Amino acid sequence: MALAFDEFGRPFVIIKEQDQKVRLRGLDAQKANIASGMAVSRILRTSLGPKGMDKMLQSPDGDVTITNDGATILEKMDVDNQIAKLLVELSRSQDYEIGDGTTGVVVLAGALLEQSQKLLERGIHPIRVAEGYETASRIAVEHLEKISQKFDFGVNNIEPLVRTCMTTFVLQDCESVQAQFSRDCRKVGGKLEDTELIHGILVDKEMSHPQMPKQIEDAKIAILTCPFEPPKPKTKHKVDIDTVEKFQTLRKQEQQYFDVMVQKCKDVGATLVICQWGFDDEANHLLMHRNLPAVRWVGGVELELIAIATGGRIVPRFQELTPEKLGKAGLVREKAFGTTKDRMLYVEHCANSRAVTIFIRGGNKMIIEETKRSIHDALCVARNLIRNNSIVYGGGSAEISCSVCVEAAADKHPGVEQYAIRAFADALDSVPMALAENSGLQPIETLSSVKSQQIKENNHYCGIDCNDAGTNDMREQNVFETLIGKQQQIFLATQVVKMILKIDDVISPSDY
Ligand code: ADP
Repeated sequence: MALAFDEFGRPFVIIKEQDQKVRLRGLDAQKANIASGMAVSRILRTSLGPKGMDKMLQSPDGDVTITNDGATILEKMDVDNQIAKLLVELSRSQDYEIGDGTTGVVVLAGALLEQSQKLLERGIHPIRVAEGYETASRIAVEHLEKISQKFDFGVNNIEPLVRTCMTTFVLQDCESVQAQFSRDCRKVGGKLEDTELIHGILVDKEMSHPQMPKQIEDAKIAILTCPFEPPKPKTKHKVDIDTVEKFQTLRKQEQQYFDVMVQKCKDVGATLVICQWGFDDEANHLLMHRNLPAVRWVGGVELELIAIATGGRIVPRFQELTPEKLGKAGLVREKAFGTTKDRMLYVEHCANSRAVTIFIRGGNKMIIEETKRSIHDALCVARNLIRNNSIVYGGGSAEISCSVCVEAAADKHPGVEQYAIRAFADALDSVPMALAENSGLQPIETLSSVKSQQIKENNHYCGIDCNDAGTNDMREQNVFETLIGKQQQIFLATQVVKMILKIDDVISPSDY
């Protein structure tokens, strides 16, 4: 370190680069990393389960998010610790692969870290712990397969699937699960109950002229990215209008341009024009007059969606319009909301009937955002069930059953790993414990009574009765999770913890 002075005589300190580094080695490194991982997991722990608490997160620009979705909380938390970032990544990959169970996976990882801390303190080498965890996770994943059940549903019997979605969120119409793609559209105002499923596309636009028809049946739609405008004179040209006649000629010419454009649309058989650009009053009036309803200023993304849904093509020039390029929709209608002047355009019964939109209504932006996340979770569960209809029961019952199985397996392992395997079983217990704790129950007492009930009755489906429904058999409560989701949780959490345990040297620049 050296003291120096700048050109104004102010002193400052020069530090050699080496001194700036803070370095943690060996056990210190592992302990510090474990502590950071546990800190993140502790934040999410209280949000787990049906009675989990919400978190309120404020972004630097003052935006507020209220949620109990693990992935979202971590996403918005802006962590700068590298280990904490790994857990954020963990939650994100669960979200990416499965779409649900994002809180549970972090809680499990945190519990595994906590257990490994105890093992390290007892002098067990981190590699032994990592190996033990790996063995245990394999046992747990196989056991899940054994206790899983098939979830019965079919194309003609989607009622069970709908019930499933209702446990996550009430979805009124089940066909959405067959959607090839779905889109959500949000609008503040209205009640949450007004949320609806639209068999088509919703555009936050209205007809360009109030006297145009509000409803068009069997619409043939011209989807245009060219403006209804006469070509503009280039800057190097100059148009001098100094007499009324000249003005009249110019006006006439402009009108002719519009006329040709409208005629072109009419010739190919379009009954509605959806345009990416605007058009002036003159063109608007003409469109109304010639009985060609039009919508202007439709965004590029919406335009593409409309094109896909209606089987039409986006046309960049009027000359390129042909009847085959028109999109087809059974019904296009404009709907007004409440007493406000808000109007939206529904494009329904499209040629591609698999396009649906969920229109979420709610009193404020935060409710809408949280609803969107819940619907996303419900849709993911339905999608996962369609892909693989094996399920395990929730409420911590699957974790307790795995814990019993892993514990029993530990006794059969002669080496040091048995400690790690046993610790893994304890970590699994922390999920039902968190559920009990969050529901206001005594965690240890509840867990031990449920566990002994599972063993005594040989019933793998006993879990935590979070909602005080009077039974802790999760089959009766209809609380279940997909097998692949639960397996992925165990698999991903183990991988991250193993990775953290294998870091024995942390080199980072210091804070100053
Ligand atoms: P995640 O983001 O991990 O899905 P949740 O907050 O949705 O987190 O909580 C999921 C956990 O809550 C799972 O372990 C699930 O089994 C449990 N759970 C959900 N509903 C119930 C219920 N009605 N009774 C008991 N446990 C439930």
